[in-house]
Amino acid sequence: MRIIHDLEIKNMLKMAADAFDRAYAPYSNYRVGACLKGSTGAYYLGGNIENSSYGATICAERVALSKAVYEGEKEFDALAIFTDDKSPTPCGICRQSLTEFCDPEMPIICGSKDGSYKVYSLGELFPSPFLLKSDKETIEHSEEVKEDTYE
Ligand SMILES: [Zn+2]
Repeated sequence: MRIIHDLEIKNMLKMAADAFDRAYAPYSNYRVGACLKGSTGAYYLGGNIENSSYGATICAERVALSKAVYEGEKEFDALAIFTDDKSPTPCGICRQSLTEFCDPEMPIICGSKDGSYKVYSLGELFPSPFLLKSDKETIEHSEEVKEDTYE
């Protein structure tokens, strides 16, 4: 996992906490805030946005990621999430979405309102991602995955 300094962890958790306040979660009351740091140094915030049709709900992490990619950012240094919960981690579909643009060494800071946090790497949380072969530069890191054959 790439090194991330304590000051940056606290900075990103503060921004994720601000994003938490802007989440829209009237059905579950489970709000999440996310702060994604691009390699340009820009921060992209997101909160979960629920929907009456539950399947249309989008997580905070994917709101932040979508905003960033739309703005042209395609490489990321770190992600922080923030909830009321004791030990939050991104859900499976968010782990998959992050894998498209983030390398396995990217730190993911998982913070709680009680002030506690844990730092994982993306690869630790999602060790065997699904990656299509593509010419897209955005999944260059997939080249690091060794391929086995059955011959
Ligand atoms: Zn999610």
